[in-house]
Amino acid sequence: MKTTRTVSELRVELAGRKGIALVPTMGFLHEGHLSLIRQARAECELVVVSLFVNPKQFGDGEDLDAYPRDEARDSALAEECGADILFAPAREEVYPDGFSTTVEVAGVTDVLCGAARPGHFAGVTTVVAKLLNMVRPDVAYFGQKDAQQALVVRKLVRDLDMPVRIEVCPTVREPDGLALSSRNAYLSADERERALGLSRALRAAEDAVAGGRIAADDVLAAAREQLQQAGIEPEYLELRSAKDLAPVERVNGSTLLAVAAQVGRARLIDNTILTGDQ
Ligand code: AMP
Repeated sequence: MKTTRTVSELRVELAGRKGIALVPTMGFLHEGHLSLIRQARAECELVVVSLFVNPKQFGDGEDLDAYPRDEARDSALAEECGADILFAPAREEVYPDGFSTTVEVAGVTDVLCGAARPGHFAGVTTVVAKLLNMVRPDVAYFGQKDAQQALVVRKLVRDLDMPVRIEVCPTVREPDGLALSSRNAYLSADERERALGLSRALRAAEDAVAGGRIAADDVLAAAREQLQQAGIEPEYLELRSAKDLAPVERVNGSTLLAVAAQVGRARLIDNTILTGDQ
């Protein structure tokens, strides 16, 4: 595997290549990231993993400086999973002096994490647009763990006619249900136990729907009970259409149940798709 740090180096490596995959990450790789890299490896000729902790998607007072970083470990893991190129640009390579463009998707970024983290998705879509232009992949891989981000990225490439296919891969979880996240590194043993409340809340909602309780109030009550048992006050717990994030009154078709909560120092998110016909 080759590590590149500049767009010009990257262009040399990619010249004339076909079947290019991009897996964008902020590093501190875990099995969730690795599942995306493995899927890219299985489906594409050349796999580029990008490693960039994007300052633009962190708000004031968020964990940009504390965000865990370990490039040597990430590099070894990406190589083991069959990545061909690790693209790890410095901040100035992505945002040189005088950089002044923002790429923004309206509407679907107003709710959930977009409401809780003003400016976050503009940071995401700006960096994703840049990475797609730098690498020019045929396929880019994202995780369902960040369901709203995947939806926003799909809209970005559709609205701007970007010639790339977006693949969204399932959420990878610990055996006890906790969704893998680089931010899990912040959790103490005690907080990690409490953090299980998020995935338990989603399972309780799935059980409620499987039992025929499809009204939003019932589904949310089942989920909220699990959060309360874990001592978690959610930042949001919402049912929305999985297609466009419109609010829904009942689970009917593909419905997203999304939760975010602060547990200790970690802001955690998780979600599940409910269909009402389980
Ligand atoms: P991040 O490094 O957190 O920006 O994540 C990079 C990519 O990995 C994003 O597309 C995430 O949705 C995806 N990802 C993060 N955690 C998971 C997980 N537990 N399962 C599947 N994909 C994940």
